[in-house]
This record gives sequence, C-alpha cells and structure tokens, in this order.
Amino acid sequence: MSEQYLDTNVPGNPAYHFSIQPPARESRAGWSRRPELVPGAGPATQCVHAGVQPDPAYGSVMPPLYLSSTFAFKDICTNAGYDYTRSGNPTRAALEEALALLEGGHGATCTSTGMSAILVALNLLPHGSHLISTVDCYGGTFRLLEHAQRFYGLEVTYLDLADLPAVEAALRPNTRMIWIETPSNPLLRLTDIAAVAELGHRQPDCLVAVDNTFLSPYLQRPFDLGADLVIHSTTKYLNGHSDVVGGAVVAGPGRLALTQQIQSGNNLLGTSQAPHDCFLVLRGLKTLPLRMRQHEATAQVLAEFLAAHPAVGKVHFPGLPGHPQHELAKRQQRGFGAMLSFELAEGGAERLNHVLRKLRWFTLAESLGGVESLVAHPASMTHASMTPEARRRAGITDDLIRLSVGLEDVQDLRADLAQALAFD
Ligand SMILES: *Cc1c(COP(=O)(O)O)cnc(C)c1O
Repeated sequence: MSEQYLDTNVPGNPAYHFSIQPPARESRAGWSRRPELVPGAGPATQCVHAGVQPDPAYGSVMPPLYLSSTFAFKDICTNAGYDYTRSGNPTRAALEEALALLEGGHGATCTSTGMSAILVALNLLPHGSHLISTVDCYGGTFRLLEHAQRFYGLEVTYLDLADLPAVEAALRPNTRMIWIETPSNPLLRLTDIAAVAELGHRQPDCLVAVDNTFLSPYLQRPFDLGADLVIHSTTKYLNGHSDVVGGAVVAGPGRLALTQQIQSGNNLLGTSQAPHDCFLVLRGLKTLPLRMRQHEATAQVLAEFLAAHPAVGKVHFPGLPGHPQHELAKRQQRGFGAMLSFELAEGGAERLNHVLRKLRWFTLAESLGGVESLVAHPASMTHASMTPEARRRAGITDDLIRLSVGLEDVQDLRADLAQALAFD
C-alpha cells in the first residue's frame, strides 16, 4: 500500500505536494524534510522539527500515535525495529529524539513521570554509592532520596551547592552523583553548573545530573556547562498544558553507553512513558519557545510589581537585579524563567490565607509550567514531604508563596495580585 502511495508522489500528479524535489525513494522516512539540517537550526526551528518527519506509511506531517503494545515479527529475527512498547515505541522514540536534540545530548529516555525519571537516574548508581544533592531540591526528590537512603543503601549529603568549598569537602571516593536543581524550587536559588561539574569530575565515575525542569532547554542547556545527565519533569514547561505527567532523562553529548543504560533502566523498571502522553508532549514542545518568552516577560513584570509592593517582603526571582545570583543567571541561563516566590511583609496564617483565597486568576494548585497561572503554598503543599527541620534548613518559611506565571494578560494577573494583597 505504501509503495503504491510513493509511486503517486511525482510532479504532475495531483497528490504531489511534498517538495520541489521528489523525495529520494530510498529514504522513505525522509520525504521532503531535511532532518540532517535540524541540529544546526535555531531553537524554535528545532522545537517544530526535531524528531518529526513525515511518516513512512502515508506521509502524515505530524507523527502518528502508535498505541500498539506489541509489534509483529516477520520471522524470528526480523521486526521493524520495535517489539514491545515498554522497551520501545515509535511515538516515544520521536519525543526522545526531540528532547536529546534540544538539550544537545546524545540520547534520551521518556518516563511515566518526572519522579520515575529521577528513579531511572538513581538506578545508574551501584549499591553503596554516595550522592550530593542540593539542599532545597524538589520535595518529591527529597522524599525519594530519603527512601533510597533507607532501602537501597544510597548515602546522601544535602548541601547548599553555592558553597563550592563545602561541595569539594563533601566528595568521597564513592561519590557517584551530584544532583543539581537550578533554579531551585521554591526559592529560585541558582547553582553554578560549570563550577560544580568541574568539582564533581575530579571524582572518577561521578555523574553530574541537572534537573532542568524549571527552565527547559530553551532557557538553559546544562550539557554546554559540563553536566552528564539532564532530568525533566515534562509535566511542566515541556508539555506546558497541564494535561500530561511525564519525565525524561537525557545523556550528554557522545555518551552512547550512558544513553543505553538509561534506556535499558527505563525498560527494566517498567517506567517508560505511554505513547499517548509522548504524543501530547511532542505537540506541546512545538510552542515551547513562544510560550517561554511570554511566560518570562510576564513574570518579570509581576516580580517587579511585587518587589515594589508595601505588603510584600522578600521576592525571589533571578530576573531582579537584587537577586543574589542575578549575574550568574545572566551568564548561565538564556532567560530568567517564570517561576517566582515571595513572602508577605507581615506574615501569619490569617494574612496568608487571605491572599490565597482572594486570588482569582492564580489557581491554588501544585505543579507549574502550564498555560494557566498557579499559586502554591510550598510548606503545606509541594514541600510538605520535607520535615519542618529540613524546610527550615532549606529556608522555606511558612509564609512563602510560589507563583507559576501563566500566559494570561499581564494586566489581569497584576490586578489580581493587587486586589489579593489589599488587606483592609
Ligand atoms: C514536578 C517536578 C518533579 C517531579 O515530576 P512529576 O512529573 O510530578 O513526577 C521533579 N523535579 C522538579 C523540579 C519538579 O518541578
């Protein structure tokens, strides 16, 4: 059937509309696009084209959704490259190719959630390994690291990774991973990826892993700064529409063996992402640059508004010149992102609840990175799994409010904050 379709694809035939040049017959997956040009293209072009070629069967411009759990063999040794969807699936492969390209890595594996991506990354570590983690990591990451300490024999040291001498002093002969999350959640503290990677690589076999969820590859490329692994919750900006949970682990440039390890780990653990979810993330990716630019522009306006507001105390946003690592943010990131947090000038449960109840466009909910604005109370929501002592050490106060700035009109969001911060 597809052979016949190829035969109609010649100039003069009404079905011929793929390109000026007839596609090379031998590269049926190539059609009219030039996948070899994608790596050298700009990030927006990459987001539209990465991993996506007209389908060999019918030339469909968008990748088909292969829901099949299993794939037929022609004989005992031959199939079309896939046998079972847990191990590999064409729709997932398209997303993995796109994410590897956008991060500038060698290869990727897509997982059912961001947490399972972290599990796949931790699964690289042999029993008895030591891991150094940023102290204010995502609450779920903290919970998993604590679990791994108790049940899987992982040794964990939590540190403020801005304190480079402390990182150096914490290295042990069995240190196999440094876990970086920058900017961090919810305090938007930055880690100098290049400096920490340099320290980490003094230790043989130590992998430097960066959770890049808060910025996406459009705004930060950890491999360019020396990281070995990039982890994503694709639930957030990469999908961007709050209708998928998913994750990804990407191995750095030239890291073929590491790519194979993360892909076989995903298969082994059974954490691979469902094809339908991959399809949605791939769709979300196409507008990533547009979304990120708008998210960021609005967040900058709101951060400046909050910083000047008398009812607001500290504002945590790397785009403010007063942010302690504003210069590092300018150097290391391609933008400041759209996550910010702030404290009330005068706190207390009553005033906090007043603000959270009065906000209308900011939905009180966990998660971030979607088109809709969200507000969260880290101490009782995203970071409730940390002990009060761990929260205190991390600097997460009970009065901290976190915003994920969405794509609504900036004047609506600013007016919403203004009315919620009026206390009389
Ligand atoms: C949400 C999040 C995760 C966990 O991802 P899920 O998709 O919710 O499992 C990990 N790291 C960061 C920074 C996150 O924001």
